[in-house]
Amino acid sequence: MKIMKLNKLTLKSIADLRSHILSKTPSFYHSSMTSTVIPYDSIESYLSSIGIAEFTMVDLSTMPNFMEINERGELVISGAVTWKDAKAFCRSKGRDIMTSPTEELACILAGFATSATGERFFGFGGLREQVVSLEYCNAKAETCELQATKPIEDYTDLTEYQKSYEHFSEFKNAPFPRMVQETDLLIGTEGQLGVITGATLKTTELNERTYIFIKLPKWEESIKPHMEVFHKVQAFRDQVFSCELLDSNSLKVLPSEEQVSSSGDLIFLEVLTGSFEEVYEKLLGEFDFISEEDIFEISAARCHALRMNVPRYTFERNARMGVVKKGTDVQVKSANFEELFEIYRSWTKLGVEYNLFGHFGDAHLHFNFMPTKEQEEVCQEQLLQLYKKVLELGGSPFAEHGIGLIKQKFIKNYLSSTQYDFFKVLKQEMDPENIFFPVGYLNLKEKA
Ligand SMILES: Cc1cc2nc3c(=O)[nH]c(=O)nc-3n(C[C@H](O)[C@H](O)[C@H](O)COP(=O)(O)OP(=O)(O)OC[C@H]3O[C@@H](n4cnc5c(N)ncnc54)[C@H](O)[C@@H]3O)c2cc1C
Repeated sequence: MKIMKLNKLTLKSIADLRSHILSKTPSFYHSSMTSTVIPYDSIESYLSSIGIAEFTMVDLSTMPNFMEINERGELVISGAVTWKDAKAFCRSKGRDIMTSPTEELACILAGFATSATGERFFGFGGLREQVVSLEYCNAKAETCELQATKPIEDYTDLTEYQKSYEHFSEFKNAPFPRMVQETDLLIGTEGQLGVITGATLKTTELNERTYIFIKLPKWEESIKPHMEVFHKVQAFRDQVFSCELLDSNSLKVLPSEEQVSSSGDLIFLEVLTGSFEEVYEKLLGEFDFISEEDIFEISAARCHALRMNVPRYTFERNARMGVVKKGTDVQVKSANFEELFEIYRSWTKLGVEYNLFGHFGDAHLHFNFMPTKEQEEVCQEQLLQLYKKVLELGGSPFAEHGIGLIKQKFIKNYLSSTQYDFFKVLKQEMDPENIFFPVGYLNLKEKA
């Protein structure tokens, strides 16, 4: 295999960024490097394996950051602000952010690039709807502003592209980005059209929350109780902000001091404390398949640590085994959720270690294979089959982590000339010299 050349650069100011853009070096601009669809741990061998000879990684995580709450209660940020920083800052001002990706060390501006969602999507919807404006550096190194209230410019092929998105409008993200409002240009396009340097986003008032755990049997044995929670919780989206699942295997990846005493699965709910009594009376006390003894309260900190550490330890485990992440990010319609569980159940018979966790209330779960090197091929084949099935079900294959490099091989059945043609128009208009993430999905070619 030919050795590829990997260049790394760190930027510390907007002036640095401008001069790098003006150098016209094709580059991949990254922030905290928590994306699960870029194989950061094995980037050189991965790029070599797909025939890339040279790649430049530009680190934005040390760009000076700034945060402010404006007179409308919106959060104004620039630079490398993480979700953790923003949450703490908003709280100190009596406000709260409405998007909460499980990995808090990810940067907010990168979150626009990946169209991040996360736990609170259940109660508050997506980041795309919370953005007021975005600021970015274009291919001429000029600073530009995009407003959420303005429709996107009428590019060639836009109408047909917009029509093709309609099928996915109820999902968090489609296999291709939405293009309706101006800000959509930089949301979910993974840094392929410019470098995001600042944003204004809506916040909500800071209210006390209560965190509830519900113990359930293992989903492999029965999903009756799980489905009861799923169906009943839907009517409480204005009082329950998150509804997440950690299965029994997810809990096993945790070190012993972080373990929870449960032999089965756990669902946790983030409930508005002011509504807790009503939620208890109308939801938690009304389950047919779950006893009240299996419902208990835990602290916000404990709940959060658990939820965040499960995926972290899962990814670490895969990195230790030297395998590229083999996980799903599929969201289906409520009516198809049981079918998705059936597919995942069939995977439990393969003799490959696995766990299942994620955004249960939105019918959006991450099944993670934890294979040995020898088992990687089997898992890859299963994933290919899954994506065919998800296409038939009309589900969304990549609902929040994006496409990056790893998921490009799964995307082709979801795209047609409508999307390929429009991607070409976007690249030609906004990045004619292909300097922004040149091997990203916008440059994929339709096979004859
Ligand atoms: C444990 C764990 C849990 C996770 N949970 C969630 C979750 O609940 N919800 C969710 O949505 N994601 C989740 N993710 C995925 C990941 O955190 C998100 O994709 C996140 O948005 C990546 O942020 P980052 O700063 O690490 O970006 P990076 O990995 O550094 O970059 C990601 C992408 O964004 C582009 N990019 C980065 N910064 C910029 C910029 N300033 N301008 C333009 N493009 C840019 C990069 O080119 C790249 O394509 C999780 C990941 C892990 C490891």
